[in-house]
This record gives sequence, C-alpha cells and structure tokens, in this order.
Amino acid sequence: MKIIIIGGGPAGMMAAISAKQKNSKNEVIILEKNDRLGKKLLITGKGRCNITSSLNIEDFIRNIPGNGKFLYSVFNEFDNKDIISFLHKQGLAVKEERGNRIFPITDKSIDVLNCFIKKIEELKITVKYNTKAEELLIDSNNEESKIYGVKTNKGNILSDRIIIATGGKSYPLTGSTGDGYTMAKKVGHSITELNPSLVPLEIYEKEDCKKIQGLSLKNIKIQILDKTKNKIIYEDFGEMLFTHFGVSGPIILSSSAHLIRYKNIKQLMKDKKILLKIDLKPVLEEEKLDNRILRDFNSEKNKQYKNSLEKLLPQKLKPLIIEKSSINKEKRVNEITKLERRKLVELLKDLEFYISKFRPIEEAIITAGGINIKEINPKNMESKKIKGLYFAGEIIDVDAYTGGFNLQIAYSTGYVAGRECDE
Ligand SMILES: Cc1cc2nc3c(=O)[nH]c(=O)nc-3n(C[C@H](O)[C@H](O)[C@H](O)COP(=O)(O)OP(=O)(O)OC[C@H]3O[C@@H](n4cnc5c(N)ncnc54)[C@H](O)[C@@H]3O)c2cc1C
Repeated sequence: MKIIIIGGGPAGMMAAISAKQKNSKNEVIILEKNDRLGKKLLITGKGRCNITSSLNIEDFIRNIPGNGKFLYSVFNEFDNKDIISFLHKQGLAVKEERGNRIFPITDKSIDVLNCFIKKIEELKITVKYNTKAEELLIDSNNEESKIYGVKTNKGNILSDRIIIATGGKSYPLTGSTGDGYTMAKKVGHSITELNPSLVPLEIYEKEDCKKIQGLSLKNIKIQILDKTKNKIIYEDFGEMLFTHFGVSGPIILSSSAHLIRYKNIKQLMKDKKILLKIDLKPVLEEEKLDNRILRDFNSEKNKQYKNSLEKLLPQKLKPLIIEKSSINKEKRVNEITKLERRKLVELLKDLEFYISKFRPIEEAIITAGGINIKEINPKNMESKKIKGLYFAGEIIDVDAYTGGFNLQIAYSTGYVAGRECDE
C-alpha cells in the first residue's frame, strides 16, 4: 500500500514510522515543504524540547482543555512511556523536571529530532523535501468519497492513503501556515474557529509596560477577573514576564488557554473588563508585609522614599511602584504615614493592569480549534467523510496546556493514524 504523509513534524514523522513498522511492504512517503524535517520541534521548550509529561492518562486528559476526551483511545495505544521507550531505543535518555516535565537528558531538542530522523532513515522512508501539498485528490463518483492522491507544487502523486499532519497556524516561519485546514475544507471538512492559545497578552497600560519591559517576576501570584461579574477566571502562582506590549511567561501563557474559552472574552477585553491582578508578595499577608516594610524603613530612617524598597523589589520594578504608590518620592522614609504605608502594601499585593487582547496566532505556542473532531474516528484518526484520509497532530481540534502534552498529542495521533491506515 502507498501511504503519503503531508507534513514532517512530530505527528507526521511518527505516522510514517508506525505505518512502515506495521508493514514493511508499505511504501511510505513524507511530503515536507521545508528543506528539512521538524523545524518547529527544534524550537520547542526553548530549544530543550519538553518531550512529554510523566502524568497518567487521566491527568493528561485534564491538561487538555480542548477536546481531551477525544484522545482516550489514542493515548491507550501510544502514551508517554511509549515515546520515552522509542527515544531510548534510538539511544536518547530522558530526565524529569519540576511539574512532571520530561526533557532529553542532553537538554537539546535536536537530539529528539535526530531520533526520528535516524528511524526514518533506518526504515527507508522516502522524504520529499521542498514539496508542498496543495490539494487533495478525491474520487466522489460513488456514494462514498475516497482519496486517491495529492496535488503538489511538483505535480500529482497518487496514493491509497493520505495522512494530513500539517500542524496549526502558529509560528508560520516553521512551515505551519494552516495549509491543511484549507485542503481539508475543500473536500468537505469543517474547521472549528481557530484561536491562539498559550499566547502572550497585551495590556492597556503600555507606558507602564515599556518601563519594566524585560522584567521577569518569579514566585508571584496572579488573578484574572471578569470585572462585569467580579468573577475570578484564572488564578496561578509562578513566573511571568513583562514585554513592550504587555505580559508573557509561563503563568500568563497558561492563563491564555483558559481565557480563550471564556464566553465573550474578546469583547470583554475590548470593553476593558478583564483585569490582571499581581500579588508581588504572595507568601506575606498584608500585616506581615507592612511590618517588613516598617522594619526596612526604620533601618534607614533618613533615606528618601525614591531610594528605598531595594530589599523588597527588583531594581527595574522600583520606580514604577514608587510612582504608582502616590507617595511623594522626595519624602524621608520616616515621614511616611501609616496610611501611606498601607496603600503601598495594597499596591504590592494588588498591582493591576487591564488586558486588551491576545497576541496574534502567529505568536501562539499552539492553535486552538481545527478539524472538527466529530468528523474524525477517534479509534483510528480516519476522516468520517473521506475514505483513506487521516489526520494527526495539531491540525485536529485539540489543544493542551504547557507541559509536554501537545507533543504527546502529536506522537499519539500520528502513531495511531500510521498504524491503522493500512487496515
Ligand atoms: C515556541 C514553541 C515552543 C513549544 N514547546 C513545546 C514543548 O516544549 N512541548 C510541547 O509538548 N509542545 C510544544 N510546542 C507545541 C508543539 O511544537 C506542537 O504541538 C507540535 O509541533 C505539533 O506537531 P505537528 O506535527 O502536528 O505539527 P508541526 O510541528 O507544526 O509540523 C507540521 C509540518 O507540516 C509541514 N507542512 C505544512 N503545510 C504543508 C504542506 N502544504 N505541504 C507539505 N508540508 C507542509 C510544515 O512545514 C511542518 O514541518 C511548542 C510550540 C512552539 C511554537
């Protein structure tokens, strides 16, 4: 049987490997529009590749807010232990870090990619580089539509099975430009709304942002509120970053995956109703924080307020807090009143910014939305509309939080699509 896989990312590479391993007589071809495989895989985990998570399947599903349950079957077929064992067999050991995150022992994503490439070469899978799939060729004469090939920039290629693994729409320079959605739509598939997920957020207070651009805050707590209902939409503890447009960093990216699912979120952001609250000192209750500031002030009574707070805050954040506290910055610290100090404490426990929008999908880690899961058989990833057509990876309407879950989705769906497609 001839099997064509469109896209040489983790989903497509795994699909090709499993199709060939299932039956060595299968002719398996990967079409990749770049001049190399796995361009996006290389930039994952800041070049270290968070391969997967060590959590069990139930917890995996909990970390996949976008249609996690659809993946039960594929995770039962191929899970985190299977990818770790696959890498081991290619000679790459892994290690576990905080938050159940699995990384290659070498801390290099290229070593993960090389495991796939090594196996692809060993199995003699053909890779056609610089080959862009443009259109699916289907035969609709009978009652049921059936795939028979694909049109590419280098001509038509006939095949018995096609697996689309073209990824999402984010980081288009890696090759993931959303071609798969267009091809699938043209043959009758529906695509659910595409949205950025795990994406930085813009805020209204741009001037403040510019002053603290590049500042990374660790061990802070955030809350994101819908001000129309005074309802907390998201709460987290960890690390965030200020940029020239707003906020980013791990807990902000995670928050975006929740926000994108909140009803009417884009309009609420437009109406300036989505508030980000940052607690800069989450382990200190107000009383204790006040005592701490008082102690600091007492130890340097004659210091001007503008020169104080260095023990309490990162250097870059100091001027903004001093300005926002509305305390005269020329004042000596021993002249600061109890009321003023209270206000400072409130500010440190509750630094507020209003979120204006999500950054564009091009800057997102992942695309939320994609091929409607109702049109895919969860057991084998085959299209319910077109016989012989399969899907794998980010193109499917599934998306997860950070932590290695998104890559696991790619390998698991790829593995099942590849193995099942010659049934
Ligand atoms: C900055 C960043 C960091 C990330 N870090 C992590 C992480 O540490 N852990 C994690 O789990 N997830 C991470 N992700 C998410 C993860 O990279 C994706 O979930 C994963 O790459 C999806 O795999 P895929 O094979 O479905 O698609 P992709 O990796 O996007 O691969 C699709 C391939 O298809 C090719 N293609 C597209 N259209 C065509 C066409 N018409 N013809 C031929 N070829 C085509 C593309 O060139 C590309 O090579 C990260 C994402 C980004 C952007």
